Amino acid sequence: MARMSESMTTVETAGDNPTITLRPKPRSAPIDKLGRKLHDLRISVTDRCNFRCKYCMPKEIFGAAYKFMPREMVMSFEEIARAANIFVQLGVRKLRLTGGEPLVRKGVEELVERLTAIRAPNDEPVDIAMTTNGSILDKKAKALAKAGLKRITVHLDAIDDTIFKFMNDVDWPVAKVLAGIEAARAEGMHPIKVNTVIKRSNNVGEILPVVRHFRGTGITPRFIEFMDVGNTNGWSMEEVVPGDEVISIIQKEFPLVRLDPTSAGETAQRWGFADSNGNWDPKLGEVGVICSVTHPFCSQCNRARLSSDGRVYLCLFATTGYDVRMMMRQGASDEEIKAKIESFWSARTDRYSELRSSLTPEIRARRHKIEMSYIGG
Ligand code: SF4
Repeated sequence: MARMSESMTTVETAGDNPTITLRPKPRSAPIDKLGRKLHDLRISVTDRCNFRCKYCMPKEIFGAAYKFMPREMVMSFEEIARAANIFVQLGVRKLRLTGGEPLVRKGVEELVERLTAIRAPNDEPVDIAMTTNGSILDKKAKALAKAGLKRITVHLDAIDDTIFKFMNDVDWPVAKVLAGIEAARAEGMHPIKVNTVIKRSNNVGEILPVVRHFRGTGITPRFIEFMDVGNTNGWSMEEVVPGDEVISIIQKEFPLVRLDPTSAGETAQRWGFADSNGNWDPKLGEVGVICSVTHPFCSQCNRARLSSDGRVYLCLFATTGYDVRMMMRQGASDEEIKAKIESFWSARTDRYSELRSSLTPEIRARRHKIEMSYIGG
């Protein structure tokens, strides 16, 4: 009989030849200073992207001369999977792959395969998702699905091709992204969500066309308020279309009913399309709004973020992160890294979106935030 220890427990299988395996005892997820339990990890697999969306990676800054991260600084798939596993042992149950643009990282499906093999201490499944601009999804959907990716979120800022090309600023046709969404659906991915960032002077007129396109298709569009992420997107409150305004624009054509969140820490407000009796008709589907500016949700924020060079950040608007890649490359054990992440999270007080309106423009300007293209949305 194996000797038991503080951190280990045994799992005995039933039947005639029971086997006893030693497993790390599930440890409860760390809780931060504001009572938020770590649950989600967003993993940026690259700082590179093939789009130049104005609210994230404006061409003026991220032009031909821009120096992206040298390859040796980028975490290998093995290192990313190891870090993800450490977070899962710490209580994370949802992993989201982001970028830059995750699909431009060669062989990303191999990483998906590695992540789908990760098991939580009590064999609980880990939910794996990806956020992509969908530019090459039509080519990648089959391999991603084969690797185990079950659900996906696609950024799509317009249905109108001219506006779409203006927003991505690389002349990428909307038809290719719509084809990518269809390819993901054909591979059985579900749910499929579509994220649309609304910038008043660019695409407020695209709210209804996006809704008309996806209503009743089982694909859920969500409208994201333009945020002051990073330091390069020229953010101003005038350019923000509040979620409440988005809902009222939609309700001019489609009656909606407010729905309950599906999980703690969900960022989107859910609204269901109503039938003629004013009740939600699930066949018509739903629409969401993500209101980080006008209805901050920091009190529920259970997300950590891992950059492609292996730094852990505790907020999308953070200024510093903790380098776990260095620990790995210096030979630290999983237990040592777990302890570091646990202490980092436990000391967390981040709630930038709640504080934004109380910060003067000078203070906001002095705060050198990480770029969204570096850490993912
Ligand atoms: S501002 Fe930071 S703390 Fe607040 S919800 Fe966003 S990521 Fe979380």
